[in-house]
Amino acid sequence: MKVLKFGGTSVGSVKGILSVKKIVEAENEPVIVVVSALSGITDQLYKTAKLASDGDKSYLAEYEQMLARHEEVIDNVIPTGKKEEVLALVQSQFVDLSNIFRGIYLIKDISTKITDTIVSYGESISSIIVAHAINGAAHYDSKTFIKTENQFGKHIVDFEKTNALIHETFASAPSVCVCGGFISTDRDTSFITNLGRGGSDYTAAIIAAALHASILEIWSDVDGFMTADPRIINNAYVIEKLSFIEAMELCNFGAKVIYPPTIFPVFHQNIPVKIKNTFNPEAEGTYISREKTGEAGKAIKGISSINDTSLITVQGLGMVGVIGVNYRIFRMLAKNGISVFLVSQASSENTTSIGVRNADSALAVEVLRKEFAYEIAQGEINEIFSEDDLATVAIVGDNMKRTPGIAGKLFGTLGRNGINVIACAQGASETNISFVTDRKSLRKALNVIHDSFFLSEYQVMNIFVAGIGTVGGSLLTQIKKQQQKLMSQNGLKLNVVGITSSKKMLFSREGIDLENYSEDLKAKGVDATPEKICNEIINMNIFNSVFVDCTANSQISDLYQTLLQSNISVVAANKIAASSSYDNYVNLKETARRRGVKFLFETNVGAGLPIINTMNNLINSGDHIQKLEAVLSGTLNYIFNTLSAEIPLSKAILMAKEAGFSEPDPRIDLSGKDVIRKLVILTREAGYKVEQTDVTKNLFIPDKYFAGSLDDFWKSVPELDAEFEEKRKTLAAQGKRWRFVATMENGKCQVGLQDVDNLHPFYDLQGSNNIILITTERYNEFPMMIKGYGAGAGVTAAGVFSDIISIANIR
Ligand code: ADP
Ligand code: ASP
Ligand code: MG
Repeated sequence: MKVLKFGGTSVGSVKGILSVKKIVEAENEPVIVVVSALSGITDQLYKTAKLASDGDKSYLAEYEQMLARHEEVIDNVIPTGKKEEVLALVQSQFVDLSNIFRGIYLIKDISTKITDTIVSYGESISSIIVAHAINGAAHYDSKTFIKTENQFGKHIVDFEKTNALIHETFASAPSVCVCGGFISTDRDTSFITNLGRGGSDYTAAIIAAALHASILEIWSDVDGFMTADPRIINNAYVIEKLSFIEAMELCNFGAKVIYPPTIFPVFHQNIPVKIKNTFNPEAEGTYISREKTGEAGKAIKGISSINDTSLITVQGLGMVGVIGVNYRIFRMLAKNGISVFLVSQASSENTTSIGVRNADSALAVEVLRKEFAYEIAQGEINEIFSEDDLATVAIVGDNMKRTPGIAGKLFGTLGRNGINVIACAQGASETNISFVTDRKSLRKALNVIHDSFFLSEYQVMNIFVAGIGTVGGSLLTQIKKQQQKLMSQNGLKLNVVGITSSKKMLFSREGIDLENYSEDLKAKGVDATPEKICNEIINMNIFNSVFVDCTANSQISDLYQTLLQSNISVVAANKIAASSSYDNYVNLKETARRRGVKFLFETNVGAGLPIINTMNNLINSGDHIQKLEAVLSGTLNYIFNTLSAEIPLSKAILMAKEAGFSEPDPRIDLSGKDVIRKLVILTREAGYKVEQTDVTKNLFIPDKYFAGSLDDFWKSVPELDAEFEEKRKTLAAQGKRWRFVATMENGKCQVGLQDVDNLHPFYDLQGSNNIILITTERYNEFPMMIKGYGAGAGVTAAGVFSDIISIANIR
């Protein structure tokens, strides 16, 4: 014999009931079918009762709507010959219901007893409909055999009576029996009661246990028990097998698939449970049994959460070493029917924290204050308060006890994402670690835990891109091209969740479609300011996130500190921050280190060339950088390579600008400003303290040319052509070339024009290439050399991209 339970999600629609009919009719073993009310009806019954008792006439409209919904279902699921009969049965139930509502409306008062009666109609009616929809099924009224007793105002099942009545009721039952879940009656008064919200699962488990069923099947609208609530985690997936203990832990902490008390009766009788999908019966579902998962199984099986948590802390020096404080706390709470789902006590014994539901928190504080009034007055125990609006998260798995480091990984991951753990608890059985955090961090916490513990699927990285010009635009194109491959080969999902141009910004938690982002930005984007961008990112509070700055804007680089502080990594193509004051540079790096995130800016120097990374690797492995010699301006190199008898200086500058090598204002390159910034960044990364003003400049264009407007500059710069041509000829005759060289020696920096002969490694530097020679303790006689494209959107974007990937790899 099997017990099948179909929830509101299954019987809530015509399609669902027809599917239930098919599933049950295909059974060849005897079955008892337990059904919930149509989805939403229990809520609507509570609501209608409330409206009526408030004297609000709109209760009638709710009532009519419920009636119409049931009539429509009957019309579509009951075979033609039986329709009239079922309609009459259901309508007569509705007549009773309408009389009760009218009574409440007139009296404008309601008791729990009446509310319990009202909500029982949901299951009474649905079970009649389903019983008649299934061929050969007989209907049974659960109110006659599920008996409860009253404890602290709660209805507790009287198993002795209930089990006896179940045996009696089903002693000679037909092969398909249908009854309502959830509903019951008081063993002493026979008043209608129920087993609590979601209680139909429990009814089914009680029947299964009483009759020693071969299996209990819980049918709803998901393919099985999933690693997390699929409404919060969209890459949650179905767990094949769970032990009773794991299932119990997960439901206790809010996994809504099964009502928590359900496991208990079947666990004792060793009756396995299957979670199945009414809308996809072929799916295997989840099998819950006594079987322990093998050693090879995952350390954690699932995550669940309760979002209405209050934490009450009883604290005080007077508690240390005093026997019986905890006894008094729990006795008082139990006496008042308050259920505690998390307890945490430090070994110093001066603090006990208790997690209860928000709804219980005021009463819990009140009774504890009363209990400890004397100790509080004496100052032995501090005033007792509750912290509300918190959430509890639990990670569950039998294999946790065999796997060291789970707690470390959990709290490390949470810390890196800026999620504050307010209290935590792990039972000695090690099947569950639970912690309490702010409710607003719940979504992020669940996502980040799922992401880091269920790597079999993929890891998500959430990216914000500021600036969609040449570099930002190329980056988005590259990400789009790589997305699929990174997901299938590296298990990494790059999710671009925000894009901002200088005017508009667009955010989407689910990810922005990179095919049409620029149209979407125009159509759906909202006005952007640096402040708004920052607020939006922080409020989104999304896990594993990286801010990528592809602008050259100082207001954007001013945001880094706040972002890093909010545990958001920063990847900058923008050079302003790393070359700003030394204090700011150090602060940013420090903040990143403290928050466990990254501040990376490899592309600040030499575009995609691995210069900063290489230097970091040398230093981290114990080397010491003594000297740097480099050509770091693609623009200047291009100009010096272009100069000839036919192309004078002014023309070469213009060509560099037109080819897109120079900054829009080429004076930034010509004045050496750009090279100075880069040299400052390298020098700092090499371990020296330096400011831009410390760099000695040996410029080739006199200062006065930089004084006026850009127009003035273009007009006056040809004055330099003749003199330059003279020098160029002399140099060419000596077999030498000009290079604009940046040098650092033991922390001293200078930039300036140098002539190099054909034996010098800088002589053959083509186009806009960059080169750097790094002299270290280890690379001494022959310095290390890195050379290649030092500018261009494609290589710069690629460098930014690899910074992003390197952040993903450290997790
Ligand atoms: P029914 O009305 O059939 O009893 P419920 O709504 O009580 O169904 O339970 C099924 C729902 O539980 C699913 O639709 C899903 O949204 C939710 N749920 C929450 N946590 C989980 C989880 N870990 N695995 C599967 N479903 C979950
Ligand atoms: N209908 C009841 C409820 O909504 C019981 C159930 O669906 O399991 O709480
Ligand atoms: Mg349910």
